[in-house]
Amino acid sequence: MTKTASNLQIDSSRLWDTIVSTAQFGGTPKGGVKRLTLSAEDKQVRDWFRQACEQAGLEVSIDSLGNMFALRKGRDMTKPPIGLGSHLDTQPTGGKFDGILGTLAALEVIRTLNDAGIETELPLCITNWTNEEGSRFAPAMMGSAAFVGDFTVEDVLSRKDAAGISVAEALDSIGYRGNKPVGAQPFTGFIELHIEQGPILEAEGKTIGVVDHGQGVLWYDGKITGFESHAGSTPMHLRRDALATLSEIVLAVEKIATELGPNAVGTVGEAVIASPSRNVIPGEIAFTIDMRSADATIMDQLDQRLRAAVAEIAPRRKVEVALDLVWRKEPTHFDPALVGSVESAANALGYQNRRITSGAGHDACNLNTRIPTAMIFVPCKDGISHNELEDATQPDCAAGANVLLHTVLSLAGVAK
Ligand SMILES: [Zn+2]
Repeated sequence: MTKTASNLQIDSSRLWDTIVSTAQFGGTPKGGVKRLTLSAEDKQVRDWFRQACEQAGLEVSIDSLGNMFALRKGRDMTKPPIGLGSHLDTQPTGGKFDGILGTLAALEVIRTLNDAGIETELPLCITNWTNEEGSRFAPAMMGSAAFVGDFTVEDVLSRKDAAGISVAEALDSIGYRGNKPVGAQPFTGFIELHIEQGPILEAEGKTIGVVDHGQGVLWYDGKITGFESHAGSTPMHLRRDALATLSEIVLAVEKIATELGPNAVGTVGEAVIASPSRNVIPGEIAFTIDMRSADATIMDQLDQRLRAAVAEIAPRRKVEVALDLVWRKEPTHFDPALVGSVESAANALGYQNRRITSGAGHDACNLNTRIPTAMIFVPCKDGISHNELEDATQPDCAAGANVLLHTVLSLAGVAK
């Protein structure tokens, strides 16, 4: 069979070799990767990536936050490129796939097109976004956020890590403060391939997740003020117990998210008793709540029902509960036309697929506010991510890359 654009497949073993061999940059004894953004290990993988892109005939440019762009010319250079890519940085105990798959699969797409001698109508541009993970510098996804104007470049450059090193200093130390203005690279659309980082695809035996939404987020800081008193001499009906109150709030969060599900989740992830002691009734507790939904009206209901529950629990238990909404991020609605292109590519290739919501944040969620964007998910073992045990199979990675290839071909068009 001759290779035409319609039956083109990426080279699965070449993609896999690239994933395995670049995992040496920051590789850990347990088989994971520690490649904090703008570290010496990040420089190693960036240098490798830049060279691989240049060898594939791409023109590499770097903006002043270290975001990397590698352009493949199209027949029609009057139109902005189709973007594809993700990030190459990792968590301190990260895996070989989170972000990395999307960037290396983008490179594999270009290599495949080169081998087949296929020119696209629109140009293509593969990307490596700076500091997606956010573990060294806050906030996470800062490169793509600044790219769309959510933060100023000066603000991002001044952010410091725990050692007091600024983003500007870190960029200079590895030679990746480029001269391209942040946000200057135009895109017609953008596609990000990523591991799911959750258990749904694996549990349902699906190969491809067609990501149509990203979760909206509600973050609360809470404080319960009761009264510390003697655990032996205070009768049950005279107590003002902060921890017993928190217990009711935790169960209320679980109940509310469950009842508003399946498209809602709620978690109390932190709770600190002010002065814990085994024979003192807890008098003061600080806690956090994280609630998410891909539907803004459900987010409103989560908020209203949480506040109603707290308003009922607090006076009944004679305690004060302060609840501050410290962050509300609206849900992401990925571009319907691009989501449809991903779904068509998955169907045409014969991969079992389903629509899915991204529970985690991604560069694509930031980009989607300015550029038509969609995402492709592939399963990861046991849904584990941000862990050295993170794993995905070679066939699943190849399937994701093939969907990326054919989505990009449908969007960029094959030059006649
Ligand atoms: Zn990621």
